[in-house]
Amino acid sequence: MRHFETTAAHGAETARYEGAVSTPIFQTSTYAGSERFSYSRCDNPTRYELEQTAASLEQGSRGFAFSSGLAAISAVFSLLKRGDRVLVSDDLYGGTYRLIEQIWSGFGISFAFCDLRDLERVEAELRTPTRMIFAETPTNPMMKVLPLRALSALAKAHGALFAVDNTFLTPYYQRPLTLGADIVVHSGTKFLSGHHDVCCGLAVVGEDPELADRLALIQRTLGNALSPFDSWLTLRGIQTLPLRMEKHSANALAAANYLSAHPRVAQVNYPGLPSHPQYGLLREQASGAGGVLSFLLADDRVQSVLHGGKLIRFAESLGGTTSLITYPQTQTHASVPAALREKIGITPRLLRLSVGLEHPDDLLEDLETMLK
Ligand SMILES: *Cc1c(COP(=O)(O)O)cnc(C)c1O
Repeated sequence: MRHFETTAAHGAETARYEGAVSTPIFQTSTYAGSERFSYSRCDNPTRYELEQTAASLEQGSRGFAFSSGLAAISAVFSLLKRGDRVLVSDDLYGGTYRLIEQIWSGFGISFAFCDLRDLERVEAELRTPTRMIFAETPTNPMMKVLPLRALSALAKAHGALFAVDNTFLTPYYQRPLTLGADIVVHSGTKFLSGHHDVCCGLAVVGEDPELADRLALIQRTLGNALSPFDSWLTLRGIQTLPLRMEKHSANALAAANYLSAHPRVAQVNYPGLPSHPQYGLLREQASGAGGVLSFLLADDRVQSVLHGGKLIRFAESLGGTTSLITYPQTQTHASVPAALREKIGITPRLLRLSVGLEHPDDLLEDLETMLK
């Protein structure tokens, strides 16, 4: 098998078109006389190259590209039917929470939220028939690490599908399908594309051909697949994913160490720090800690931190070349009810930092200015 870096740089190489070394952007809606392609809602050569590249990187069988991460997650929930129950990690991306509460719950599907680190609690929840476990690890924004092998064993024992949002670590650091998951989803908007210039989602399935066929049907029927140009941008981003992830992680560790020692910081949540409660678990199931961390300010002077940086800008999203600081309470997690936010730890003093590819000295200098 090829190494990860090689597949990232070359892609899946599903076809060669006139010797083009970069996969062309097939900006066409329809095809006349092709044996393989008929209509771009259903299938498109540029998108197919991205989908198979994602499948190779995740060590899955088939990939599907969507117009955003939430579109990919919605496609995965489309595998369910009325009456099904899903067990979901209680700490997860706020948009996924909104998708569940505002859309999918209305279709007669029930969602139970639980701390998926607590395996006894998970077992108790699974006594009620459950069709799917949906997990995000590390969680957004608390950076809890969930035990993927144990959760997949429990899912299997209870006949539930196990889907994992792998946005934060990417397949470069973590491959949930090799740890027993059935489906992996991504917001490709983040590290996979990596340059703050595209919204994209991906879903990859393991070795289950029926599941893959069903997702293919969902994709071509819901009509939320990724455009050719955005597929190309994401493919382009993936070529440098290994290099970027190494640098994101090294910079994030430097930032985490700096913040840990700062008098205005009460707590740093980064699974690459030996003080993180699941540091050992992370090392068992992933080969790196990634570029995102969250931290708790020791005082209420939040706004000057959010807006005080020259490099680190106040904006939603993560995983791009430049560092961003986010306020989960009013941005990414605004749709999570206050009581649940409080329970999880999303308090008014919690900030999330996506660490970019700047020189670490410049980053730490900017953090120093922000925390003056
Ligand atoms: C951003 C994000 C999503 C949603 O992806 P979009 O591309 O914004 O739709 C889902 N999961 C996680 C972990 C995210 O960070």
